[in-house]
Amino acid sequence: MKSAEFRLTYATMFDPPQRLHDLFDAALEGLLSKLGNEYPLTINGKSVRCPEKFEDLSPADDNQILGVFQQAGAAEAQRAVAAARAAFTVWSKVPWQRRVELLRRVAEIIRERCFTLAAALSLSVGKNRMEALGDAAETADLLDYACDQMEGHQGFVEELPRDPLPGLVAHNVSVLRPYGPWLVVSPFNFPCALSGGPAGAALLAGNTVIVKCASDTPLAPRLLADCFLEAGLPDGAFNFLTGPGDSLGQALSSHPDLAGVTFTGSHGVGMAIHRQWAQGPYVRPVILELGGKNPAIVTQNADLDVAALGVMRSAFGLQGQKCSACSRIYVERPVYAQFVERLLALTQGLTMGDPTRRDVYLGPVINRRAQAHYLECCQELARAGELLCGGVAPDQGEMARGSFCAPTLAAQVPQDHPLWRQEMFLPIALLAPVDDLEQALALAKDTIYGLTAGLYGNAQEARRFFEEMEAGVCYANRPTGATTGAWPGMQPFGGCKASGAAGKNAGGPHYLQLYLREQVRAQIVRSNHAPE
Ligand code: NAP
Ligand code: MG
Repeated sequence: MKSAEFRLTYATMFDPPQRLHDLFDAALEGLLSKLGNEYPLTINGKSVRCPEKFEDLSPADDNQILGVFQQAGAAEAQRAVAAARAAFTVWSKVPWQRRVELLRRVAEIIRERCFTLAAALSLSVGKNRMEALGDAAETADLLDYACDQMEGHQGFVEELPRDPLPGLVAHNVSVLRPYGPWLVVSPFNFPCALSGGPAGAALLAGNTVIVKCASDTPLAPRLLADCFLEAGLPDGAFNFLTGPGDSLGQALSSHPDLAGVTFTGSHGVGMAIHRQWAQGPYVRPVILELGGKNPAIVTQNADLDVAALGVMRSAFGLQGQKCSACSRIYVERPVYAQFVERLLALTQGLTMGDPTRRDVYLGPVINRRAQAHYLECCQELARAGELLCGGVAPDQGEMARGSFCAPTLAAQVPQDHPLWRQEMFLPIALLAPVDDLEQALALAKDTIYGLTAGLYGNAQEARRFFEEMEAGVCYANRPTGATTGAWPGMQPFGGCKASGAAGKNAGGPHYLQLYLREQVRAQIVRSNHAPE
């Protein structure tokens, strides 16, 4: 792809040019001709195979094997950490300007292969084309943004004032330095951006990296790993492993030689890693990006068409499997019925099927387990309240072969029902009428999570919402998404409370520093004491 032809962002993707579809179709065809290939691990720059393998299956078709992957375990974890440790002595001494050059090269390769990565994301995650292209393009933008930050801060070397020592001239400098080998564990839903973004930041900072991706979706991160490896990083600076979370993931995340970890995934696993790391002899950085239960508030001053569109996109984009998905909707009573009517019309108009197809908006959920969970949740919501639409797993035609779930809206579910608080990670959103903004904010905040939130209302209401909402990203009046659609440099992404532990958002001005520790260098460079 010639990346200069058009620039991919979530915003531009709402009106895609024909050329974009042609490039996607060509990349998809190329990838389909390689279905079922076997892919290795990469440790210390070498391809590694294991006796045990597993398959990346298409969520849209139980019979489609996308690739065969290595089931790494404790031995490979050990080798990868040792390689990253050895490579750290080399990579951490590479001047920051050279690191920027190499990471920019990675971004360039990703852009060149953007459509192939997107086709892999569509096939293995079930993303529609625009969502798939978004994940791939965002990965390159995350790297470039981090490089901009490194350059903007001149490698984070800062001269400090000289202290007034009589007769001596002091030189004081603050230098941000890397930590060491860094583990990146990524989730199934954004396998490129959430592997590549953290890995890129860690590497740029001078750390070495081990990436372990989710077992449901290894194909795209494997292709992404090639982009890192082919850019010319020294052997061992970037290692790539596949294998089960409870064995490989556990062996990696409990390794004492790691200097830091970035985990993006569920709250339960993230907190277990955090607790485990707290047992060590000293505190090491743990960057956690966890789940969400993201609310949208619609007041009587909202543009209801914009609100319905934004809520629909955030509730059902990627089948509700975004950490930023909108799963709770609070609407002021006077406009409740009108809003629900609009939201229902939009939801019922969504197309579902093979997500690689141009006209499809909704693909399958990630696997049959998720589909079974969807049916259980719908049954429970129908019992506790009322389903306004959805509640079924469509199985007509091609959909019989995959884990498809109809987009579901539930109403009249009592506020103390656990599904108002648990992250389902499915195309299900709960609606409730509220008396006023006061009550909406109180309900919106009544959760352990604090990832994203959205409001549709007037400027005064937006001000109050920004001030009071406990969330890492707050959106007001966006047609493109009530709670979703972050982009590097524009809406850095992260959460508070149970949604994230870093306190600084990915793709933002304070993110790269999370991968760096400060060393202050204070040196006497001259003595003004005249010799006696
Ligand atoms: P998950 O089940 O927690 O898995 C995430 C990753 O952790 C996978 O690579 C998994 O490997 C691995 N893992 C599992 N158990 C492990 C263990 N004991 N030790 C080390 N690693 C382990 O999450 P998911 O289902 O892939 O993703 C969905 C979740 O991610 C949702 O909760 C969503 O909200 C969250 N998420 C958050 C953000 C954010 O930025 N805040 C972004 C995206 C997703 P296996 O696949 O092999 O089990
Ligand atoms: Mg898969």
